[in-house]
Amino acid sequence: MALNVVMLGPPASGKGTQAVRLAQARGIPKISTGDILREAAQSGTELGLRAKALMDRGELLGDDEMIGIVRERLARADAANGYILDGFPRTVRQAEALDRMLQGEPLVIIDLAVPDAELLKRMQTRRVCGTCAAIAEPGTGQGTCAGCGGELMTRADDSDEQVRQHRLDVYARESKPLLDYYRDRSTFRSSNGAQAPDQVAKELATKIDQMVAVASRKRS
Ligand code: AMP
Repeated sequence: MALNVVMLGPPASGKGTQAVRLAQARGIPKISTGDILREAAQSGTELGLRAKALMDRGELLGDDEMIGIVRERLARADAANGYILDGFPRTVRQAEALDRMLQGEPLVIIDLAVPDAELLKRMQTRRVCGTCAAIAEPGTGQGTCAGCGGELMTRADDSDEQVRQHRLDVYARESKPLLDYYRDRSTFRSSNGAQAPDQVAKELATKIDQMVAVASRKRS
């Protein structure tokens, strides 16, 4: 059975960090819509330039555009055995579209809960690699990427206090309703994302194994 996972949670809740670990552990791709858009912005495509203007202000891109991007990405061969989605869906409309794409295939939904004060602190101190987009271990400061040696930098949307707060407001308004959309499913779990990354990863591994067992029983 393909393992399809959605990571929910506010900005800087650890979705990206945990998605990388899970993808490595399970041998399936991590698909981050934020990374796709930042890559497009770096390449200077029309989508990228439009996306950059919205991202830098902490606004979301339109649902139809994002749904199209994800539909194309999920159709690629490497996603056939499952994937970890990081940053999608971000609205109920996107979640409804994902359900249609899945055509009844099981979906595991993980929510990472972190208090706002901690999120703001993390956004302020987060460093990412300018070359491979990896998220640096907290406390790495201005050094270089442990993976590729690229220069660490602050994301444009992390560097302005108003934008940081605005992203939390946009999350509360547009993305929090996703919790109600998914909450009643037997394959939904929330985890305390304020813990150390290793502890969060351990909890997620256990919860995902439980949910996969539930989903397999349902299908057999
Ligand atoms: P992230 O890296 O997930 O924090 O995403 C960075 C930015 O990309 C967001 O603040 C949005 O501007 C944009 N973005 C990423 N994913 C989506 C999505 N599913 N829907 C709309 N905008 C998105």
